[in-house]
Amino acid sequence: MTAPPAITLASGSAIRASILKAHGVSFRVVKPGVDESIIKSEAAKTGLGLEDMAMRLAEEKCMAVAKTQGGFVIGADQILEFEDHAYDKPHDMAEAKARLGDMQGKTHTLINATVAALDGDIIWRNLERPRLSVRKMNRAEIDAYLERVGEAVLSSVGAYMVETPDGAALFDRIDGDWFAVQGIAIYPLLAELRQRGAFGESWKETLPVKAGVIGSPIAHSLSPLIHNEWARRAKIAGRYEAIDVAPAYEAFAAAMDDLRAQGFAGVNVTIPHKENALRYADRATETARKIGAANMLTFAADETIADNSDAVGFIKSLDAGLSGRRKIDTALVLGAGGAARGVIAALQGLKCERIAIANRTRSKADALAKEFGLEALDWSARSSLLAGCDLLVNTTSLGMAGQPSLDIDLADLPNLSVVFDIVYTPLETPLLKQARARGNPVINGLEMLMHQAAPGFSTWFGGRPYPVFPRVDDALRDLLIGALNKRVGS
Ligand code: NAP
Repeated sequence: MTAPPAITLASGSAIRASILKAHGVSFRVVKPGVDESIIKSEAAKTGLGLEDMAMRLAEEKCMAVAKTQGGFVIGADQILEFEDHAYDKPHDMAEAKARLGDMQGKTHTLINATVAALDGDIIWRNLERPRLSVRKMNRAEIDAYLERVGEAVLSSVGAYMVETPDGAALFDRIDGDWFAVQGIAIYPLLAELRQRGAFGESWKETLPVKAGVIGSPIAHSLSPLIHNEWARRAKIAGRYEAIDVAPAYEAFAAAMDDLRAQGFAGVNVTIPHKENALRYADRATETARKIGAANMLTFAADETIADNSDAVGFIKSLDAGLSGRRKIDTALVLGAGGAARGVIAALQGLKCERIAIANRTRSKADALAKEFGLEALDWSARSSLLAGCDLLVNTTSLGMAGQPSLDIDLADLPNLSVVFDIVYTPLETPLLKQARARGNPVINGLEMLMHQAAPGFSTWFGGRPYPVFPRVDDALRDLLIGALNKRVGS
């Protein structure tokens, strides 16, 4: 039997090393020597969100070491998010005092990214967001704490050392992964390393993951390309395929029973099966219930769970497209089909104050408006509703290849307002072309397609037992654009 690959920790953090050691992991330490400030300022310029920034930093540190070290290399990063801002380690005691003063009586988040590479490729990513509530304290209590602990607090982003009795006494409550609070999500990491045979226990052959997308027609779907690419990058054996199933519920239920029996981990579900999926499932998540449709079915050991990732896909792509710069207060949603439901739920989750919908069939807009507590407007009035609108979203199939363009006059739309078209064939719909020409920021449907795929991949390919965090990046974008261009050319 060959020895398992060596494990290297790409971090100079004493606490990360002590956590690994306390869990019986044999490893060596190689400091990555990465200049985090350069990565942070580059990431800020491209408008990267804080979760993506933490992940980017963990990856950079990991890969800086993985370039020269074979076997497993572990990288991690942590960002403190407080009242929508990111914080670095305090530079001096005055800053530490101010930090604790600001955070007392309030809750903040420690975004933790932990990644692993194997023989030079990132194979696993994990993201945790533990929430910490600092108890109410007066200045004298904060001064006394800082005096007792001294400059050691400067090594912590929060200006506290929660792992010590003194530091723990600063908190009312901590929710989430305790080790992620300290800098490394050890249990998800151990699960992944064990699964990969890193600890040399008798190797158990893991069955290749089977997953797919169900629809009709479905041959055009880009989902297999996305999932199979993520599986390839993570060196996970498995296959994601497109499966055509006739529209009737009976055909759908029979196909799901069959896939379950074949050992499929789960499937995405698209037109015309989103309501069938909800009906078939034993249980639906709150999101799927609120949206009233499912685009994910997970085949767990004793139940089938329906979920909907359209809303999260929409939020993630909106977030990236907005560069985290502004809040959406007013939105106009065109369309009242399945996708509109996810978009509306997402906008409500983002606390968008005024959401209006317009749909060709007015009765459908009225029904949706009633269900979600919004305003329904006449389809013919769509161009006159744009003044004061922060966001225009097209969720109709207008503008899709083979369909007529969306006929709308953008003259009243403010220049900074975002135009989001969830259609992705073509990538630049006539609506986006028109919006771009007048200088509005635009977001195309490919972004949402990639982001809505991530929860399914995490659950089915990475759910062993912890989810992994697949990456939406330029390489994936280019792969999909290449496939779309080939289609246009053929
Ligand atoms: P759906 O439930 O069938 O709804 C279609 C919507 O388009 C309805 O509001 C319909 O209006 C409207 N529509 C169709 N033809 C029209 C026309 N000629 N004039 C005006 N309105 C018209 O479909 P869906 O699931 O919501 O999907 C809609 C689009 O979003 C599709 O192109 C789909 O590919 C895309 N999509 C993209 C993503 C992504 O990740 N990027 C995710 C989901 C969906 P009526 O009610 O009047 O029929």
